[in-house]
Amino acid sequence: MTITAFLRSQHILIPLPLEYETIEAKLRARSITGHEASQAIFVARRRLGSPWHWKSWKAARKQVLRSACETCGAGEEAILYVQHTVRLPSISTHKELAKRNLAGREIEPIDYSSIRQQMYAIRDAAEPEERDCCPKCASLSIQYRKQAATWICNSKSTGRYCAHVFTVPAKKAALTADQKKSINREKHRTWRNTILNREDDWMRDAMLAWIGEMRVYLSLQHTKTLCKRCAFLEDMTDQKPCRSCGFAYPRTEQVCPDCEQPDGAQPIIG
Ligand SMILES: [Zn+2]
Ligand SMILES: [Zn+2]
Ligand SMILES: [Zn+2]
Repeated sequence: MTITAFLRSQHILIPLPLEYETIEAKLRARSITGHEASQAIFVARRRLGSPWHWKSWKAARKQVLRSACETCGAGEEAILYVQHTVRLPSISTHKELAKRNLAGREIEPIDYSSIRQQMYAIRDAAEPEERDCCPKCASLSIQYRKQAATWICNSKSTGRYCAHVFTVPAKKAALTADQKKSINREKHRTWRNTILNREDDWMRDAMLAWIGEMRVYLSLQHTKTLCKRCAFLEDMTDQKPCRSCGFAYPRTEQVCPDCEQPDGAQPIIG
């Protein structure tokens, strides 16, 4: 079996671009949020352009293009197109859908008070150390000056420099800069973990649905071969051409008003 034949048998005529595959995998693993995925998709779409300009599209088109128009039967003499019978997946439609679905579901909203408790717990878990401070204002922003062999307080917490000069610092229990950094890291991790796993991330649902629909769209399962005229009618109007005389009439009618042949009669061309 050739690769093309294999892909066809698997309904993978145009593989989903790697960018989308990666975003989908990260969403499924909950390592990015729906919002982050939507931003990544925005960038990828701009880079990739319309599917029908892709190389893979042009190659796949040759595989599915038939020798005659599937509506009117026009053959080789006509200009034939591969036309989707479904629309290009729309991001905004999926966003609307996901938001509406969310409204109908019983979802646990993010419990902010529980997060606050976790944040306090992280801070409280750090054991403050005995640190040097200013004996006058208890600030930690003190500086030892080698030349003078004294300390000076650089604190400006009251609006004016404390500027107290002393030889022996006082002690107070306080967190070190490293401790503060690691507390912030831990808090960030907790928050990130919460938003990555939130049940009400409707954007995540929307992006997964859009990528899924895109994969089906690119499989070209839902396409047909149309001549230029039929493609135009399908695209621009709600009319169909009569398969007997070619007269364009409303899709909802079953009989051609011009030649009175029922819809579905054998085409005269092709
Ligand atoms: Zn046609
Ligand atoms: Zn001071
Ligand atoms: Zn007719």
